[in-house]
Amino acid sequence: MRNQSKDIVIFPLGQVEQTIITAAAAFLESLGGFYFTCRIASRRPIPIGTLNTRRRQYDCKRILKHFIKCCPGDCFRFIGITDVDIYVPVLRYVYGLAQLGGTCAIVSTHRLRPEFYSAPADKWLFYQRIYKTVLHELGHTAGLVHCLDSKCVMFSSTRIKDTDKKEPRFCDTCRELFFWHINKD
Ligand SMILES: [Zn+2]
Ligand SMILES: [Zn+2]
Repeated sequence: MRNQSKDIVIFPLGQVEQTIITAAAAFLESLGGFYFTCRIASRRPIPIGTLNTRRRQYDCKRILKHFIKCCPGDCFRFIGITDVDIYVPVLRYVYGLAQLGGTCAIVSTHRLRPEFYSAPADKWLFYQRIYKTVLHELGHTAGLVHCLDSKCVMFSSTRIKDTDKKEPRFCDTCRELFFWHINKD
């Protein structure tokens, strides 16, 4: 029986399009609808004080810390999707960041748009990249670390071609681990 408390809550963070949020929620539910449900929460502003004006990027660690503190008590996972460019201090950029074995994750669509790489707009490709990034970060919240299988969604994406090479699903090992963690949480 479905446990009603296992709600993955996805929310728009800043100006991101609502259709992206709806599509990401539908994608996740299609993968794990027996184990969890997806709920869309209201739009939230990007926390103040997280913009690094010198880098013209947002400090994702700070954003994540903010949402870990104000995560609704009744939700199982809390995922914010934004379109601003995010980074962590040691890296030039990140596509997303998650609390390993925790509740919260942040995903950015900024570097997922083909246009960012001067390629023609491609909605299918853009959405595939979003699905992969959201699932990857959700995997981290379940305690999964990077996988060595370049086709597995838990493979580390350093560049966009890493994301394009992998599939929007877990390899057998990661899948088993993921659902084992999800079940026990
Ligand atoms: Zn990762
Ligand atoms: Zn894997």
